Amino acid sequence: MSTLSSFNFSGKKALIRVDFNVPLNSELEVTDTSRIEAAKPTIIHILEQGGSAILMSHLGRPNGELKPELSLKHIADKVAEILGVAVKFSPSCVGPEAEAGAAALEPGQVLLLENLRYHKEETAGDEVFAASLAKLGDVYVNDAFGTAHRAHASTAVIAAHFKGNKCFGLLLEKEIKAIDTVLKSGEKPVTAIMGGSKVSSKITIIENILPAIDHLIIGGGMTYTFIKALGGEVGNSICELDKLDLALSILEKAKIAGVEVHLPVDVLAADDFSKDANTQVVASNAIPEGWEGLDAGPQTLKNFHEVIMSSKTLLWNGPVGVFEIETFAEGTKSIGRSVEAATKAGAFSLVGGGDSVAAVKQFGFEDKVSYVSTGGGAMLESLEGIVLPGIAAILGE
Ligand code: AMP
Repeated sequence: MSTLSSFNFSGKKALIRVDFNVPLNSELEVTDTSRIEAAKPTIIHILEQGGSAILMSHLGRPNGELKPELSLKHIADKVAEILGVAVKFSPSCVGPEAEAGAAALEPGQVLLLENLRYHKEETAGDEVFAASLAKLGDVYVNDAFGTAHRAHASTAVIAAHFKGNKCFGLLLEKEIKAIDTVLKSGEKPVTAIMGGSKVSSKITIIENILPAIDHLIIGGGMTYTFIKALGGEVGNSICELDKLDLALSILEKAKIAGVEVHLPVDVLAADDFSKDANTQVVASNAIPEGWEGLDAGPQTLKNFHEVIMSSKTLLWNGPVGVFEIETFAEGTKSIGRSVEAATKAGAFSLVGGGDSVAAVKQFGFEDKVSYVSTGGGAMLESLEGIVLPGIAAILGE
């Protein structure tokens, strides 16, 4: 695998695809700097070796229009503050101005290019646009996991111009290693905790990870399609009636693969999808008419805790309840505490994909697990077994 350590950046201009798609408030100030901080180690490594860094990113979805509020100039000062290095800004990402800016860079200096998506050619994966970007640097570094599942000009197409001169940044390397630890080299027992709303959105992931895991914990809205398929009563709970056969086939495939499946035995049911709903704990297969299961029940959480504590490798994708509403957040918090305890006891834990990341951040578990993925869609596609275009482009010729 071609990584930063494969190169000596002394005197080189590194063209780095970062993910600086950060949230801005109405004053155009950065409200969450985590993505900039996540890219810092790669940039500093290159600068400390005597290289210079040309940073390229998208911000929002300008769809090829020059929307002033989506200019990366708004974040240049914040980038400089976080890196502790002055940051020059190029008002265009390709063409004579960008080329002159890149050519003038001295070792140790940083140039931030304007929003790549001001050009519709970026998302179209346009070859000519990719070639124009490629002129700016000597080595191409991809450190943007959040866009690695896109075959865009700056994330994938550009790599063909850097044969032997391209590598993953430290962040992307960490993401790849975390996924490999779970799916390829994880110490057993390996447990996947799958939550979220629907079976249909997680089916490909479950099928792909079955050969790699020993235990499958199923929680969240997905539960009820399984319970219904097994003959239970799910009341008004979210349930995909056209996926009952699919649910049974997953259980069958799990059995054949020797994977133990753990479903909720009790749930917190509510008479309304709201904070002030009446609630009761009921058996997961006997939910009364007019009630819906919105969180895992206490016995379920005890069972899940035992499985999690017995595991050496953990993957957590998706909340086990409607965590956005406080009344139904306890299950997801409890899973967080169990994963934290297992991690403390020596397990490797990866949290990734969509809402589970929001949940661990909201409940303060971010620093208590081994790794929280920075890419929602990219992590989901990786777990589905897809080789992401941004990763394939570095691995290929
Ligand atoms: P996903 O994006 O598929 O990971 O789903 C995350 C969403 O699932 C969150 O917004 C949760 O509120 C929702 N969810 C979790 N458990 C339930 C449930 N029992 N009923 C309805 N929605 C749920």
